[in-house]
This record gives sequence, structure tokens and C-alpha cells, in this order.
Amino acid sequence: MPEKFDAIVVGAGPAGIACAYELAKAGVNVLLLERGEYPGSKNVMGGVLYRQMMEEIIPGFHKGAPVERPIVEQRFMMMDKTSAVTFSYKGLEWAEEPYNNFTVLRAKFDQWFAQKAVDQGALLVCETVALECLIEGGKVVGVRTDRPDGDLHADVVVLADGVNSLLAKSLGFHKEFRPDEVALATMEILKLDGKTIEDRFNLEAGQGCTIELFGDATKGILGTGFLYTNKDTLSIGVGTLLSGLIKHKIKPYELLEYVKTHPMIRPYLQGAEPQEYLAHLIPEGGYRSMPKVVGDGVLVVGDAAQLVNAIHREGSNMAMTSGRLAAQTIVAAKARGDYSEASLDSYRQKLMDSFVGQDLKKYKDATHHFDKFPQYFEEYIPMMNRAASTMLTVDGASKREKQKKIWRDIGPAKRKFKIARDLYRAWKVMK
Ligand SMILES: Cc1cc2nc3c(=O)[nH]c(=O)nc-3n(C[C@H](O)[C@H](O)[C@H](O)COP(=O)(O)OP(=O)(O)OC[C@H]3O[C@@H](n4cnc5c(N)ncnc54)[C@H](O)[C@@H]3O)c2cc1C
Repeated sequence: MPEKFDAIVVGAGPAGIACAYELAKAGVNVLLLERGEYPGSKNVMGGVLYRQMMEEIIPGFHKGAPVERPIVEQRFMMMDKTSAVTFSYKGLEWAEEPYNNFTVLRAKFDQWFAQKAVDQGALLVCETVALECLIEGGKVVGVRTDRPDGDLHADVVVLADGVNSLLAKSLGFHKEFRPDEVALATMEILKLDGKTIEDRFNLEAGQGCTIELFGDATKGILGTGFLYTNKDTLSIGVGTLLSGLIKHKIKPYELLEYVKTHPMIRPYLQGAEPQEYLAHLIPEGGYRSMPKVVGDGVLVVGDAAQLVNAIHREGSNMAMTSGRLAAQTIVAAKARGDYSEASLDSYRQKLMDSFVGQDLKKYKDATHHFDKFPQYFEEYIPMMNRAASTMLTVDGASKREKQKKIWRDIGPAKRKFKIARDLYRAWKVMK
């Protein structure tokens, strides 16, 4: 292996692969390092891949990529112990070109995507851990790896090493993340034949559906569950802030078992056979937890830069966009022959001007707000379910009597005022 590259990208997830692909396409000599046996072997995702951001890298990608199903319906289930209020949007415009998003299985998708980067000229080396950044005169000049030939040099290093980003931490770009800045998610992939999936989820052949689960799915802890349809498997999972798991003394796999056996979910999973169990952290601190993303000779992208929009479960798209923007910045820096922090800083600016920075800023207080005031998940979702039950049960009571009962159920005036204030606050952090 040559000892000096134009660029080294650490981590072959969506962020790193997107960056390496764009760099190689622009003629930059790039090495993509991955600690796993192959790209995707260590990656965990519920599975919604957003078309637009992938399309900006490889137009028409879905025609050749191992995507599972285009999503035509997104359901949102507000769950109590024995009930659920469900909102949904189904649109047939999502069933055809250009599509909105697809479910994917990362073990397959990342391998395919990484091969595309290799086809452009990137050198992919797997089963190799970048242990630390090499620094000379305050500038990152490469990485030390666990390979016998050890040190590798480059003009610029891109840290795409995922949520913990030990390399960015060792550069002092961020501290150890607090338990209220990361979620722990566990998920299972369950085998079920495609026709049964389509019948059960009310889908035409080949179409897909996602269900996001709120409230009792996480036993009221801040977080969400999910149930996604793949070709002939289902992905089911649940993720909550680490701080919530610690506070409620719940083990993540117990929460997953709870969701799988929940009466609102169990029927979807009947006869499905567990195939794979996965667990991973998700950076959920948002805008306020973003580390420094640019230094002398170094850029940070994807989860390593905390680029996840937890409210809209978007992460892979932000990862790819940040990887693409980092690559564009490096190409311009190469033309100038200047990889200083000042020269690379346009990456940070482009990132913050894009939907990534804009959306993170928009929801900058949301996670902290909902974590601080758990009543939204613990109390208000069950209250909404009780109100729906009261209103929709036909028992001889007049509709006006029912409205009065719902109003009484909310509690005394002081509590009503508190709820109105909470709704206003929620609107403020989400607007
Ligand atoms: C359960 C779950 C469900 C999710 N659902 C969705 C979803 O539906 N849609 C969505 O858009 N996002 C989702 N996300 C978030 C999404 O998975 C991430 O935001 C996305 O994978 C980030 O990509 P990345 O390339 O930055 O990091 P990763 O995908 O984590 O990739 C980092 C890579 O770096 C490698 N690596 C780490 N350290 C080193 C090292 N020192 N040397 C070499 N290699 C290293 C790792 O092996 C890994 O391959 C979900 C996440 C989880 C955990």
C-alpha cells in the first residue's frame, strides 16, 4: 500500500463512502479504511434511506442498488398499554419514480455503495482500525492503524468513524458524550415472506410501509420504536436516550421484547422468525452537541459530527450530504494546495447552510425539552388514547356528555393550564 494519499477517510458508513466516492470521482487519490470485515458488517439502521441525498451522489442509484421496498405509507402510532391512536400518510406518488425513500438492509447496501466508490478509484481497505491521528506541527497528517505497516499519511483525513468518534475525541473536538446526548437502540430483523408482509400491511406487490411507535413502545421513556417492511423481512426496533434507560433501570433488550409482544404490534409479527439481533448508539444531542468539525488537515462527517435529526429519524441522509460536502471542500483545497483549518472551514459553512445545519438548528432544543418534561410521552399520549376511546365508544351517552367526560378526565383547571403551557412549549421547540 502506498504510504501517502491525498485523503484518508476513516469509516465506510454512508458518510465515509459518500465522501470517498466523490473524492475518487474528482480524481483525488483516496484511501477508505473500515474496521469491519466489509462495509455494512458493523452498521445498524432501522432502514429508511432517503432517495434525494443518495441521488445527489449517484443519480438513478435505486435501479442497481439493493434497496428493499419504496415506502408508500408512513404510520405514526401513539401507543398506550392496550390501545393506539394512529396517524398515517399513504401516497401513491411515492410508489413510482422518483420515489421518496426506500427501506434498506445496511449489510447489503453499504457493500454495494462502497463498491461504487471503488469503481470510481477509491482504495478500500477493510479489517483495519485507525487507532489515532498522526499529528505534525499541530496538523493532522495521517492515521496510525493496527496493521503491521502501521502509519499512513495524507494531506487530509476525514473522520467518518461513527457515533463515538474516538479519533475526534482524541483531537479534543468533543468530550465523552453524556447519556442524555446519545440513544441506545436495539433491533431485530425477522424473516417473513413478502406476500404475507403485503397482506398484513395493506400493500401492493413490492411496496413498503413504515410505522413509528411512540408512548408505551418505550414505556414512556423519551425515544421511539419502529417497524419497517423489507422484501421478505421486517425490521423492528426501539431506541431511547441512554439517560432514560439508566433512570428507569430498564435493559434495552427488555424494551425490545416488550415492543415485540405488545398487543398493538404482536399481530404484525406473527410467524416471523428472528434472523439477526443488533444494537447501536445514535447521536441525539443535535445542534448543541455538535463537535468541532474542521481542524488543520481534518474534517468530521456523519454521526461522528452528531448529524442526526432524531425528530424525523434522519441520519443516513445527513451523513451522505456531509460526506459529499466534505469531498467538495477537499477538492477545492487540493486545487489551492492548502489544507489548513481556514481553508477547510468552508465545509462547516456549507454544512450549516444546507438542510443538515438548518434542521439541526430548528430542533436544537427539542430533545432536551422532551427529556426534561417526560409528561408528553408518559401522560399525554395515554390521555389522548382515553379521549379517543371515550369519543368513539357508542354506549348511549350523548356526544356532549362524552366531551364533558374527556374534559373532566384532563383534571382541574390548574392541570388544564399546565397542559396548555406544555403544548405551547412543545410548539415553540418544534416550530
Ligand atoms: C437502530 C437505528 C435505526 C436507525 N434508523 C435510521 C433510519 O431509518 N434512517 C436514517 O437515515 N438513519 C437511521 N439511523 C441513523 C443512521 O444509521 C446513522 O445516522 C448513519 O449510519 C450514520 O452514518 P455514518 O457513516 O456517519 O456512521 P456509521 O454508519 O456508524 O459508519 C461508521 C463506520 O466507521 C467504522 N469505524 C468506526 N471506527 C473506526 C476506526 N477507528 N477505524 C476504521 N473504521 C472505523 C465503523 O465500523 C462503521 O462502518 C438509525 C440508527 C440506528 C442505530
